[in-house]
Amino acid sequence: MTDVSIFTRIMQGEIPADIVYQDDDCICINDIAPKAPVHVLLIPRTPITRLVDATAEDQALLGRLMLRAGEIAKQLGIGDAFRLIVNNGEQAGQTVFHLHLHILGDKRFTEGNLGF
Ligand code: AMP
Repeated sequence: MTDVSIFTRIMQGEIPADIVYQDDDCICINDIAPKAPVHVLLIPRTPITRLVDATAEDQALLGRLMLRAGEIAKQLGIGDAFRLIVNNGEQAGQTVFHLHLHILGDKRFTEGNLGF
């Protein structure tokens, strides 16, 4: 099944990953190619393709993801300084077409430097 994302396969246990956190809504894993000392991906279990494909039905889930991102950042010790990034679409750098939030931290972010 080519339309099953690598993140869904990780959630189903088919592909190993370094799991930082998981609950009924989402899973958080260390990025395999980190762009900062702390770089995790927060991924909803619902396979929304891109942020722009989310609908009003996803509103509560998206809100919970934002709250979870802050909690996880605090747990990882980067609560005071982190970046939350969503790449939407191939030209924006999206490579996995299953919505995910990049949480990046423990790095000096300078003005104009998006961390990627
Ligand atoms: P994006 O480019 O925004 O779609 O982000 C996809 C991210 O997934 C990239 O930062 C990749 O390094 C990361 N990634 C791809 N495959 C894996 C994997 N098997 N385990 C952890 N992270 C992955």
